[in-house]
Amino acid sequence: MALTGIQILKMLPKKNCGECGIPTCLAFAMKVAAGQAEIETCPYVSEEAKATIGEASAPPIRTISIGSGDAEFVSGGETCLFRHEKRFEHPTGIAVLMKADEGEASIDGKIERFNAMEYERVGVYMRANLVALQDTGDGAAFTALTEKVIEKLPKAAVILMSDNPENIKAAAAACGDRTPLLYGATADNLDDFAALGKELKAPVGVKGKNLDDLVDLAGKLVDAGVKDMVIDTGARTMRGCFEDNIVARRSAIKEKFKPLGFPTITFPCEMTDDLMMEAMIASVLMAKYAGIVVLSDIQGDVLFPLLLEQLNLFTDPQRPMVVQEDIYPISGPDENAPVLITCNFSLTYFIVSGEIEGSKVPSWLLIKDTEGLSVLTAWAAGKFGADLIAAFVNKSGICDKVKHRELIIPGYLATIKGELEEELADWTITIGPREAGHLPAFLKEWKPTA
Ligand code: SF4
Repeated sequence: MALTGIQILKMLPKKNCGECGIPTCLAFAMKVAAGQAEIETCPYVSEEAKATIGEASAPPIRTISIGSGDAEFVSGGETCLFRHEKRFEHPTGIAVLMKADEGEASIDGKIERFNAMEYERVGVYMRANLVALQDTGDGAAFTALTEKVIEKLPKAAVILMSDNPENIKAAAAACGDRTPLLYGATADNLDDFAALGKELKAPVGVKGKNLDDLVDLAGKLVDAGVKDMVIDTGARTMRGCFEDNIVARRSAIKEKFKPLGFPTITFPCEMTDDLMMEAMIASVLMAKYAGIVVLSDIQGDVLFPLLLEQLNLFTDPQRPMVVQEDIYPISGPDENAPVLITCNFSLTYFIVSGEIEGSKVPSWLLIKDTEGLSVLTAWAAGKFGADLIAAFVNKSGICDKVKHRELIIPGYLATIKGELEEELADWTITIGPREAGHLPAFLKEWKPTA
């Protein structure tokens, strides 16, 4: 049961010293209750209170980490059912399956594609996150595959899949400090996996025959002292998996049901032989609470749409994506290059800068901080008015970079041209196109007016 700010305050030392970065204990307690501060930040709180508050304020879906450094994948930490209620915390991990008896050429191809397929979109770098290595009964081959992957895929978190704890243990040793997910705990090997998870301080993947069986097994692992888990209901149809994911998430979030309070792992690769169908199933499961989707392979036409879906679902709807206020040189501009200005909503920035780059006209692009609002919205909200633009232009340093004094403003800001000319008396204000797509033609014909 979540604690209120007042309940948390009662357990704090009430020194009001501010060492937690927040001026008073009351304000700190309110932030802890709202999930915006960690109780550990107060150096004076007792261990007993830490345990009580930490337990009560922990997210209903436990946060787990697989791997480390560039290869770290984090999942869970979720607190809501729908993105608009707050936000989704950690994107679904995309994993590629590799089997220990798969031919070398096939494995090498997957490794090459995994490393090559990284995409940038609105300043975010997107890629597959994990490899799922499947033991096929030969422990030596399983360990050899693990060693190869650890060497060749520096950015992949590793899932070791086997029902044989000995084979998992040997392969885990090859992972070094990239702590893998140990997947494959069932009723037959539960104690061994629990012991292994605790010994290696690694998360355990538990697979039930169905939801009820999973609840039973996960409960036993919790009782055995396993804290970090990834759960698999055993469903191998899209519908079954979709329904189970929803039941698990609702039970964890609404009922605080601990055995299901862990990220889920799903296997579209085991639900169809058709790669496109597999991608479609993965996309459905990503939208409904899959912590990890395991695919049989990745190709650009499968991975890119999934990554875009991931980006759309997991960006924080309450925080606009922004780029930094600055002068951005595009294509090596000189002192005679045109100067354009727009807002810092990242989508606007990337569209405008992309069109300027495509025009091959070297240009200076001024990005004004509008708190992530788009041009018209920012203007309507009083964050992109003539006075603010003028102040920014004057302090930006653009006057030292160009000889001319001509500023190209977005076509949608035509109404502020007169005001801006008053504010920037030395500058000529030119109205640019309304749509970024018309910028190349505009820039190719542009000549400084003075
Ligand atoms: S550090 Fe602890 S005692 Fe000091 S203000 Fe913060 S919560 Fe209060």
